[in-house]
Amino acid sequence: MNGDVVGAPLGHTDRIRLAGAALPVVSPVRFYVCGITPYDVTHLGHAATFVWADAAAAVLRLAGAETMTCRNVTDVDDVLTRAAVERGRHYDEFALEQEYLFGRDMTALRVRRPNHEPRARHHVGQVVQLAAALLATGRAYERNGTVYFRGSDVPDRAGMARHDAERLSAEFGDRPDDPARDDPFDVPVWRPSGDAEPGWPSPWGRGRPGWHAECAAMALGVLGAAVDVLAGGEDLAFPHHAYQAAMVEAATGVRPFARAQLPVGTVRAAGAKMAKSTGNLVLVSDLLRDHQPAAVRLLLLDRSWRRPWELHDADVANAAARLERLYGAAGTAAASPVAVEAVTGALVDDLDVPRALDLAEEAGGDAARLLLRTLALS
Ligand code: ZN
Repeated sequence: MNGDVVGAPLGHTDRIRLAGAALPVVSPVRFYVCGITPYDVTHLGHAATFVWADAAAAVLRLAGAETMTCRNVTDVDDVLTRAAVERGRHYDEFALEQEYLFGRDMTALRVRRPNHEPRARHHVGQVVQLAAALLATGRAYERNGTVYFRGSDVPDRAGMARHDAERLSAEFGDRPDDPARDDPFDVPVWRPSGDAEPGWPSPWGRGRPGWHAECAAMALGVLGAAVDVLAGGEDLAFPHHAYQAAMVEAATGVRPFARAQLPVGTVRAAGAKMAKSTGNLVLVSDLLRDHQPAAVRLLLLDRSWRRPWELHDADVANAAARLERLYGAAGTAAASPVAVEAVTGALVDDLDVPRALDLAEEAGGDAARLLLRTLALS
């Protein structure tokens, strides 16, 4: 028996469903988790993404698969550079501190360390190669030190209306109104850097990677031409993940880049998406001061992974009460292969954690212990 899946029945790798479709897998299952830009504290919305990606990998291991997880750190980013300047800090030093705080929150929430944690700055050479490959295949063009990826078909392929796509592109800093580009949906793979910005030499002058190109290069560099699961917050689906996939596919000819996507539902508070500008951030570190980490983890997992949700005052206490009931159920001597099978079946069926929890609470014994262990709640 595999050491990572103690007590688990093996042989369910052909029964996995994810994001509404069958996803039979062959080990290792490659996970790319779109990680943090280390410029601010971790709020509950970030935590939801990483806890769900962690739980998804654990469920695949329960099903008998080996997993290979890669969660990047976007440590070259204009948002980070600006945040560091505002605080009078050097961007590298500032990023390292934020990464440390993020790691502390993740450890508290029992998110397993990924197998790979690439940093954008270590993959700049691959971004340069990606830009060169896209230029060589005619999928990019260079203009005044910027290498633009031809992305006019990206909104269509992502199933987005062009006006919605344009609004989101502008929101995420892709500047669709920039007159230098041939099409509003062309985005920089490489762009020139000013003196105060991070920069590296390239055939097109000193510059730095575009955001989508960084994740494309890190995925290529660590996991190869394709991944099984691409996970990230749902707000990253467009433009970020759509462009990441389009760039990798254009460079390699391998399609699809991701067999399944796990766009984790946004967490809202006080009627709006959590954002510093809205003033409704719920910080993981604050929640952990008053609640046990397993209760916060269960709060995130006892729901649909996909659906956006709103945090209410009583939610963490309710999760803590559910956790106590599960602990009580796990303490009974019940041994039911049928219940164990049912819990496993719910988990591999598109990560139906609420159903697995109900089944485990009712059956107790080994079924409850299996679930608590798999979801890292015990
Ligand atoms: Zn990414």
